Amino acid sequence: MPETSLKVELLSHTPEPDLTAATAGHICYANATIDELKKKVTPDYAKKLISHLVEAGHFSVLEHVSFTFGIEGISRACSHQLVRHRIASYSQQSQRYVDEESFNYIVPPKIKSNPSALKKFTDSIESSRKAYVEMLEISPKEDARFLLPNAAETRIVVTMNTRSLYNFFEHRLCTRAQWEIRQLAEAMLEECKKVAPLLFNSVGPKCERLGYCTEKKSCGRKPSKTEFFKKN
Ligand SMILES: Cc1cc2nc3c(=O)[nH]c(=O)nc-3n(C[C@H](O)[C@H](O)[C@H](O)COP(=O)(O)OP(=O)(O)OC[C@H]3O[C@@H](n4cnc5c(N)ncnc54)[C@H](O)[C@@H]3O)c2cc1C
Repeated sequence: MPETSLKVELLSHTPEPDLTAATAGHICYANATIDELKKKVTPDYAKKLISHLVEAGHFSVLEHVSFTFGIEGISRACSHQLVRHRIASYSQQSQRYVDEESFNYIVPPKIKSNPSALKKFTDSIESSRKAYVEMLEISPKEDARFLLPNAAETRIVVTMNTRSLYNFFEHRLCTRAQWEIRQLAEAMLEECKKVAPLLFNSVGPKCERLGYCTEKKSCGRKPSKTEFFKKN
């Protein structure tokens, strides 16, 4: 079965995400009815308010806006990293119920670009597949799946609110995050920007917000925390 690649689709989201977040923010500061609030929160006003809310760290208002993504073409290694983000809802294709005889798989780019590594990789995948198929004859799927590789493709539906997405993007757009989840985060962010530009246009890795890098080994894009505080 073939190698596969990432596909991310935004399945649904809270209607008018930017305006909904801004309306939730505005109610905190205004003695106004809901009808009055809705009139006041124009796109221009929402732009100013959202930037103020984000700068002030008033992130709870972002929880009113959620996004649901359909994701395929990621490895089980990547989905394991994804589901570490607990403030989210997940539904994942089950290896207990779905027959994985013809599983697709993900090849890491560094392995793909090295012919001898690629051969070892695909030989190993095919040998796992063979063992899995043989095991299916003598044991249930839920046990045979123990032989499947981390490279096996999975499909997952994920719902996160905007606050949790900010946290996810800050962690997973960092160059220290692994290439696969970084690609996934980039694709999810692109989808968010299409429907909620005010909320997502300035979202990036954590160092963009802080101005310095918190990782032990920086990629060099931003100064280390010590360098930053020496200068400022
Ligand atoms: C580059 C990189 C390397 C990593 N390496 C490792 C590793 O080697 N080993 C490893 O185990 N993980 C590793 N992780 C995963 C990481 O530790 C987090 O589990 C993951 O990024 C999810 O982040 P989170 O907990 O902030 O997200 P969520 O689970 O979505 O939580 C969001 C926020 O909610 C709050 N929160 C959630 N649950 C609790 C709670 N129980 N108590 C208090 N507050 C809570 C916290 O403020 C948290 O930041 C790595 C992540 C990255 C980006």
